[in-house]
Amino acid sequence: MTTLIQTSPLDNVGIVANPQGLEKGTIISDQITLSEYIPMGHKVALTDLTEGEAVIRYGHTIGYADKRIQKGAWVNERNIRLPEPPTLDAISYTQKPIQVIEKLEGYTFKGYRNSDGSVGTKNVLGITTSVQCVAGITDFICQKIRRELLPLYPNVDEVVAFNHSYGCGIAIDAPAAIIPIRTIQHIAQNPNFGGEIMIVGLGCEKLRPERLLPNGRDAAESSITYLQDEAFEGFGDMVAGIMQTAERHLQKLNQRQRTTCPASELVVGMQCGGSDAFSGLTGNPVSGFAADLIVRAGGTVFFSEVTEVRDAIHLLVPRAADETVAQALKDEMAWYDAYLQQGRADRSANTTPGNKGGGLSTIVEKALGSVVKSGTSPIVDMVAPGEKVRKRGLNFVATPASDFVCGTLQLAAGMNLHVFITGRGTPYGLNMVPVIKVSSNTKLSQRWHDLIDFDAGPVAFGHKTIEEMGWELFHLMLDVASGTRQVATDKLGLYNDLVLFNPGPLT
Ligand code: CA
Repeated sequence: MTTLIQTSPLDNVGIVANPQGLEKGTIISDQITLSEYIPMGHKVALTDLTEGEAVIRYGHTIGYADKRIQKGAWVNERNIRLPEPPTLDAISYTQKPIQVIEKLEGYTFKGYRNSDGSVGTKNVLGITTSVQCVAGITDFICQKIRRELLPLYPNVDEVVAFNHSYGCGIAIDAPAAIIPIRTIQHIAQNPNFGGEIMIVGLGCEKLRPERLLPNGRDAAESSITYLQDEAFEGFGDMVAGIMQTAERHLQKLNQRQRTTCPASELVVGMQCGGSDAFSGLTGNPVSGFAADLIVRAGGTVFFSEVTEVRDAIHLLVPRAADETVAQALKDEMAWYDAYLQQGRADRSANTTPGNKGGGLSTIVEKALGSVVKSGTSPIVDMVAPGEKVRKRGLNFVATPASDFVCGTLQLAAGMNLHVFITGRGTPYGLNMVPVIKVSSNTKLSQRWHDLIDFDAGPVAFGHKTIEEMGWELFHLMLDVASGTRQVATDKLGLYNDLVLFNPGPLT
């Protein structure tokens, strides 16, 4: 069976869905015969394209033909040119009447309620650090806690040290320094840490550990350890001191109990990594449908990755809840344009060899497929990098597209559940929150049977609808948030490092 997917009747290219690709000579219709072999996920010209003619997918221009392309030929990054990005000043915004969202009631999960009102999905002892100098010791401590203390506190799932490259050798007063600083500060407040803030610092660093405490919290209550404290006679003393503090926090964390919470307490971060041409057809629309369900249930959803929304920003600004959010979205894009320019790069630097291998020829094509995971809800707020979320509903949380940097910033914003869509495959995982890995194609989920949690591939062949699979994903999210279903990376213990976004200078 030959399956070619067209996403809009305006499209002049179709996507090959067959896992083995389609051979030269394959007859698509009376009019179209393939003039060459075309791999899975790649584009076939459905009409003759003249030089300079727009290549249309999702009903939008994703590039221009670099030369004449005959129908039945392979359309890829070698024969198309990238269009200019949408001009930010030209995107207008009209305030629409408030959209009435059909409420979804009665869905719950079992979570850990915190005193600040947030809800955790995992019970984790978090060790925040103020400088990289202490990383060797915090790693040592985590292993020791796992071995000696966690068995005594069975309600605690994990201990995590946030080791990062920041803290000293930095221009701490540079305007951009606020991004890494507030990221570290807000990660310590992630709902899964249950408000038990524990900081390990060196003592002489520029980033003062006290600065990482939330407003109104005192250092004694939260416990800050300085390795240079004169009371410590060597390494053994430091370890004993930190272990004592850790035990105090573990005692409190161990008392946390899961209780029934409405689905409105979910804060779901959506992210893509290792995308392919199916991501925009299966994984992202299914995740977008589930995102709408979370919003309808009163919950919070993040979508991110500036370089993957930049080329679709003209479709997103009109979805802003008000003029302020619309302007904030455009300002954030402008800030990122300038940031890329400063490094003499442009947005086309985003697409990877893997994206292209999977059929994504340009960043425009990638972006149009990427924003689908935001669903259709109004965008209620723009959260700048490292800031904490302020409003329930669909938020744009500005981050680079880099998987671990995006995940880190979404954790700082307050994410308690992560949905990660991939087409090419990545073992990506975080130990602070469960990561549900969604595969865009069945070929990947069969090959990576023990690394993928949810296969959105059946949508490509019409075996299931986006709606059906969106509901399935929504129910999986509730189960994972309740701790009754374990995600693949938690079963296997596969975790990435958290990586800060630091656009500021080092000294
Ligand atoms: Ca990413």
